[in-house]
Amino acid sequence: MNRVSSLEAYREIAPPGTLDLIYSLADRLQGKKALHVNSTRFGGGVAEMLHRLIPIFEEMGIESRWETIKGTDLFYRTTKSFHNALQGDEQLVTPEMYREYLEVNEKNCEELDLSGDFAIIHDPQPAAFIKKRPDGAKWLWRCHIDISRPQRKVWKFLKQYVDLYDGAIFSLPSFAQKLKIPQFLIYPSIDPLSDKNKELPPEEVDSIVKGFGISREKPIILQVSRFDKFKDPLGVIDAFKMVKQHNDCCLVLAGGGATDDPEGAEVLARVKEEGEKDPDIFILDLPPDANIAINALQRAATMILQKSTREGFGLTVSEGMWKGKPVIGGAVGGITLQTLYGRTGYTVNSVEGCAYRIRHILNNPQVAEKIGTNAVDYVRKNFLITRHITDYLAIMTDLLIGAETEDIYMTTASAE
Ligand code: UDP
Repeated sequence: MNRVSSLEAYREIAPPGTLDLIYSLADRLQGKKALHVNSTRFGGGVAEMLHRLIPIFEEMGIESRWETIKGTDLFYRTTKSFHNALQGDEQLVTPEMYREYLEVNEKNCEELDLSGDFAIIHDPQPAAFIKKRPDGAKWLWRCHIDISRPQRKVWKFLKQYVDLYDGAIFSLPSFAQKLKIPQFLIYPSIDPLSDKNKELPPEEVDSIVKGFGISREKPIILQVSRFDKFKDPLGVIDAFKMVKQHNDCCLVLAGGGATDDPEGAEVLARVKEEGEKDPDIFILDLPPDANIAINALQRAATMILQKSTREGFGLTVSEGMWKGKPVIGGAVGGITLQTLYGRTGYTVNSVEGCAYRIRHILNNPQVAEKIGTNAVDYVRKNFLITRHITDYLAIMTDLLIGAETEDIYMTTASAE
């Protein structure tokens, strides 16, 4: 396969051999058509990854489309309840809500083009699309959230659809469930060349940060997240208050909403109410395309927090690590996979633990530097987009070409 210019840009960044493996896998998939379906184009890690993956697949000769499911207010409230319930929260889902979920899924299936050899249906929102899988196509359900301890009733409902897929993909081994179908493990990834992660000149970082009215004289502690209770922004403020009694520093909570998250505005209002009491706390409600601003904030930060109480993977952790920053995260989901305790970051289990670790980093710059260096190396080996592309290609090869090869083998076998 000819070299693909957008991929070649990663040759010096990805571990050696990665691109050659991608080319040899992509070679076998030329002309195949792939489809991704999720629930939002803006906000959250899934959209973040699809924006970068789809154009590269296209350029590799694998036609790739991205559709989003569109719903009613009740649908989004229902899927947010599903999301919370699957992550272990007690939620009341009424029969009317289940009905709305199925109706919206059905209506979207009628309106969208679901053709293609291969589809990845992301998260619970469009999971019932499987009822309309075209003949011969291979469909996978990809789950990006922590469903290791789901509320049984909601999971039982969803599982009847998940079991119809050709396979399921989870982000962590501990998220795997008892299913009738094969399960695959794929870690999410960040794109080192995207606006969110590319190198920025220090002057640009400086001017963006100052543009938000944030002084660079004090250490900056940053959390970038949707305003979602599971990201625990109020816990971050409490930890910061404890730290402030001993260390002069400022806190930046940067985030925005996702179009499929009806609870965001409420959480943001509570965070603002708390944050406004201290001039060293900056609450930034950012537009969906604020990638360079987030990049600059991450680069300007002394350390990065992701104090989630539930987390699927936590892309913001790899984003911070890639910028050589020590990340302190809640000891949940994919955060524990990224921040190896004391080597590539720290995990914490409480507000007090978080405050303790923030102070530890503030008071020991040499620790921050060592962890930051290890973090870059760890992300390079494990969490870059090039590894993600390889994983997708390997699964596609297994399901599409593997199936063809098996057919040939079966034919030969029966002919003997
Ligand atoms: N993000 C963003 N703007 C925001 C908040 C988050 O661009 O206002 C990005 C963030 O940089 C990361 C992704 O959205 O790339 C969030 O992914 P993560 O896995 O951390 O959490 P999720 O929102 O998917 O639960």
